[in-house]
Amino acid sequence: MQRSERSHYDVVIIGCGLSGLAAGIRLAHFGKKVLILEKHNAPGGLNSFYSIAGRKYDVGLHAVTNYVPRGTKGGTPLMRVLRQLRIDWEDFALIPQKTSRIQFPGVALNFDNDFQTLEASVAAAFPKSIEGFRKMVSILPTFDEALSHPNRSTSGRAFLKTYIQDPVLIDMLLCALCYYGSAREDDIDFSQLAVLFRSILMEGFARPAEGIRRIIRALLDRYRQTGGERQMKCAVTALNIKAGRVTSLTLSTGEVLTADTVLSSIGAVETFNLLSEKPEAAKPPIPGALSFVETLSHYPLALTQGLWEETIVFFSDHYPFCYRAPKELIDPGSGVICLSHNYAFKGEDIPTEGCLRVTALAHPQAWHKLDASTYAV
Ligand SMILES: Cc1cc2nc3c(=O)[nH]c(=O)nc-3n(C[C@H](O)[C@H](O)[C@H](O)COP(=O)(O)OP(=O)(O)OC[C@H]3O[C@@H](n4cnc5c(N)ncnc54)[C@H](O)[C@@H]3O)c2cc1C
Repeated sequence: MQRSERSHYDVVIIGCGLSGLAAGIRLAHFGKKVLILEKHNAPGGLNSFYSIAGRKYDVGLHAVTNYVPRGTKGGTPLMRVLRQLRIDWEDFALIPQKTSRIQFPGVALNFDNDFQTLEASVAAAFPKSIEGFRKMVSILPTFDEALSHPNRSTSGRAFLKTYIQDPVLIDMLLCALCYYGSAREDDIDFSQLAVLFRSILMEGFARPAEGIRRIIRALLDRYRQTGGERQMKCAVTALNIKAGRVTSLTLSTGEVLTADTVLSSIGAVETFNLLSEKPEAAKPPIPGALSFVETLSHYPLALTQGLWEETIVFFSDHYPFCYRAPKELIDPGSGVICLSHNYAFKGEDIPTEGCLRVTALAHPQAWHKLDASTYAV
């Protein structure tokens, strides 16, 4: 739905990425007059899509985590999100992964959407650590417990060390968990460890054959049906503050809107920078040190046959695993390889091309210092 003429909203959401859309659906569903503002012309944010010369690309999607088969009982996060957004299971059309791997020098752990595969792999590669691994899994907080856990910001690495003897196994688990969600160098917050361990290693990976388009379309349809409004190509340029509260928003179109509540999904640093007046007591948020580069290649499917069956490979070509901002532009010594054609596609969903994504750690300031033409090369 396009934006109406009225310029006051119950809630304005900055950003039409996945979180902005999900929040918009819930709020509109409960009767709020909601507007989503997005500076780009395409929805989806970091998880958006584009086309070049007729070929479709996803900006980022490797995998939808937390995959569980249709009808799984027990309020798993995927089932809960679908229920809360009133989206049917079929609307996301998720296809499960085949198999994935964590690869270190001379040792590999295999995993898939059945946790027993990882357990058996740990038992075979690290027999002395399997009991500790099982104990660790048995006391791991649930998703809900993890988010409000009193130790949520403590070291995930220290937690693993309490249960697992073998430092290589600890680094292998950290490699997978950090790459998919740690903002902390060489470590991960305890609550994040618990959430990601469950999301990636105990539940699992899937993806729609069409990629992220399918999910964004389902979210946009739902948002529209609930009566939510959105305006694209419209950046918020200032959050105007009076007496410590946001009283209005200035837009790149020159308009000024008011709202009872403003939700921002654009990041703490970016939101802080929009404030017309910085609260005296507030410390400016500090940008994280970690950043990534991702390369994407398409090639004939026949080239991959018999070579790689995995969907995702987390790797480090050295031990100990090093998860920190590199001194050079990138550190190709560890990362994630995603073969997005290697999901369990069937029939007409089987892709006609191979697609290889490689993610590695990068040094953000070093990239920012490059002039535009060098950056592009
Ligand atoms: C390369 C890469 C690969 C990834 N792979 C996966 C994956 O496989 N699986 C997975 O689950 N997650 C993955 N992620 C993470 C996932 O993409 C993000 O966690 C998720 O997209 C964040 O969504 P969001 O809505 O919170 O924020 P964002 O996607 O950042 O959305 C914020 C939106 O706000 C807009 N915006 C910014 N400033 C303004 C402004 N001033 N006014 C108006 N609009 C503004 C932006 O344009 C953007 O659309 C990946 C991320 C990257 C970068």
